[in-house]
Amino acid sequence: MSQGTFQLLPSVDRVASDARLRELPAALVVDITRDVLDVARSRIAANGPAPAFDDVVLDVRARVTARLEAVPRRLINATGVILHTNLGRAPIAEEAIAAMAEAARGYSDLEFDRTTGRRGSRHHLIEPLVTALTGAEAAIAVNNNAAAVLLALSALAARREVVISRGELVEIGGGFRIPDVMRQSDARLVEVGTTNRTRLRDYEEAIGEKTAAVMRVHPSNFRMTGFTESVPIDALVAAAHARDVPLIDDTGSGALLDTTRFGLAAEPTPQRSIAAGADLVLFSGDKLLGGPQAGIAMGRRALIERMARHPLARAVRLDKVSIAGLAATLRLYVEGRAEERIPIWRMIAMPLADIEERARPIAASVPGASVIAGRSMVGGGSLPDESLPTAVVSLRALRMSAAALAAALRERGVVARVEEGRVLLDLRTIDASEDEAVIAALRGIAQGQADEEAARPR
Ligand SMILES: *Cc1c(COP(=O)(O)O)cnc(C)c1O
Repeated sequence: MSQGTFQLLPSVDRVASDARLRELPAALVVDITRDVLDVARSRIAANGPAPAFDDVVLDVRARVTARLEAVPRRLINATGVILHTNLGRAPIAEEAIAAMAEAARGYSDLEFDRTTGRRGSRHHLIEPLVTALTGAEAAIAVNNNAAAVLLALSALAARREVVISRGELVEIGGGFRIPDVMRQSDARLVEVGTTNRTRLRDYEEAIGEKTAAVMRVHPSNFRMTGFTESVPIDALVAAAHARDVPLIDDTGSGALLDTTRFGLAAEPTPQRSIAAGADLVLFSGDKLLGGPQAGIAMGRRALIERMARHPLARAVRLDKVSIAGLAATLRLYVEGRAEERIPIWRMIAMPLADIEERARPIAASVPGASVIAGRSMVGGGSLPDESLPTAVVSLRALRMSAAALAAALRERGVVARVEEGRVLLDLRTIDASEDEAVIAALRGIAQGQADEEAARPR
């Protein structure tokens, strides 16, 4: 490689001072110019051509602009998976959005007692709503449910033993394993039973002097069938209490409504655990609760107070914006308006006929698409085998591969489901206000394809 070819590349200064980059932040322009020139240099080293000066400038401008765009970008979820972990889990209610914007905009009495003018507790907003809804004595909210598990065991079980069934040592997705989170608390896990069967006697034999708690974990998106046995919560509570040990129940999804009303299997509810006598119940804010990311711990006051006083409580505390959103979401349940106002429940309750009616004009907007029957999933680690009947727009007929079509849709902000070589759009997870954008994306892709075919030499 001759020195001469490299000299075809402009200097960082020359690119960065180009008039077309003048409006952009200088430090970012210099950084990205270095990256772009580095790539060009390796290409030249591999006997590739040197890029034209104008192309370097335009490349830098495009990359700087992309870097400055507000992220995360809005997507349309056409997968039919209601709690899609990769797409940000639960979209939240307008009431929660308004409360979050208000909390972010100004100062507030989040930690201020207006009567005394002194410092207040940030838990006073959430606690009365949670206790009213569930019958629990006390509650606190933290950053997420993993943090609630970590804080509960750190405060209540460090250097002591926690008895748990081998059937509940699950991975909840993204490589995160419940037993690993638990071990971080310095509690020693005493595993009982086998993967498929754990009996009351297994727990009873394991509870001893060093036992700090018996723990139950919702197996999340994992379901065992066939030769299985687990201990019902009432019996587990009785066994723990007979030995003066608290029962901690990680219920996972935080379903406050009865899922059987929507034709789904029964997802365990946190209020049922409290009624059964569980001493501490933990759940997420952004799964079937339908609120912002949060973890809620509720139960006996003495246990909640020990958690609130633990140093980790400060590290995992919920921020003011999420507290506002969570409180507004919980208020909708208290007012009996959850099903009507919280997006995930609206999606779960959406009548099939409404979905079909919206699917038809979308299918009619591109050649060859059709409306067929499909199934929507709840997702988010809840109800793994359960689905809801839906109508989907099947895009088998557009003349490109399913993978290429799904990629073209993603590029236009629509995430579809690919099944058996077909691209499917499930309207259950698309807000009706987004239907026009879906049609525009499909028309754009179909038009692009028609243009390409017209340009092809015959
Ligand atoms: C999802 C889940 C968690 C983790 O909750 P995050 O709010 O995502 O931290 C913990 N336990 C169970 C049983 C879960 O389903």
